[in-house]
Amino acid sequence: MARVALVTGGSRGIGAAISVALKEAGYQVAANYAGNDQAANEFSKQTGIPVFKFSVAEFDACKEGVAKVEAELGPIDVLVNNAGITRDTSFSKMTPEQWREVMATNLDSLFFMSKCVFDGMKKRGFGRIITIGSVNGQKGQFGQTNYAAAKAGAAGFTKSLAQEGARSNITVNVVAPGYIGTDMVKAVPQEVLNAKVLPQIPVGRLGEPEEIGRCVVFLASDDAGFITGSTLTANGGQYMT
Ligand code: NDP
Repeated sequence: MARVALVTGGSRGIGAAISVALKEAGYQVAANYAGNDQAANEFSKQTGIPVFKFSVAEFDACKEGVAKVEAELGPIDVLVNNAGITRDTSFSKMTPEQWREVMATNLDSLFFMSKCVFDGMKKRGFGRIITIGSVNGQKGQFGQTNYAAAKAGAAGFTKSLAQEGARSNITVNVVAPGYIGTDMVKAVPQEVLNAKVLPQIPVGRLGEPEEIGRCVVFLASDDAGFITGSTLTANGGQYMT
């Protein structure tokens, strides 16, 4: 039987590429999204991957959403925590709401979603929890105290849960992308990309969402069973850890 994978924020950008890569690798994939019905329905029509609308920032919504996915596809073997948002602004201008929104979607969600699947994985003796971090959580970034804190938090969460899952054949890892050409990065003005971002990337280009999809497929596979608590960086050499 094909393993079941749930990708949060799996209908657009990097998440969509991850969903498709997992499907092509033979998984039964469910893609979650928050509110963009048009993009999600279009994605589902094109790929045949079912979509599930709920907010990863709310625990009750996660519980209901995961229950629906499991009722339709079966127990979740692979959870990809990909959903994420930015609310960039300098620290002096940052509001408590901008801090909380980013923490809720990018960090609280890791607890909520993993909580919904971890015990089942333990019982079945197999699991993969893969979280999409960010180069900016590794090196820090002006205007992103909220986002960088959440993404750095993902690494600590991952190293701790990896220790708790290890004996049950559950691996927990982070993939930390650099700048990838998605809507999130297209929101950065082109002159800022040209002047400030691209010169920092030794390979001289943005990454492709599919390149992150392949990292996730590897970490989800049986071949990666000895890799846990780690961060796989995919950033074109922008920041070497
Ligand atoms: P996009 O903005 O292109 O897509 C975000 C996805 O997340 C959408 O599917 C969106 O759903 C979903 N989402 C947002 N909030 C929620 C929520 N509360 N509940 C459920 N789903 C939600 O993002 P990217 O593809 O660019 O980013 C994906 C991940 O990669 C993020 O974690 C991001 O931080 C990380 N990352 C991105 C980089 C980049 O260069 N793009 C670099 C490093 C890391 P909907 O369509 O309904 O809005």
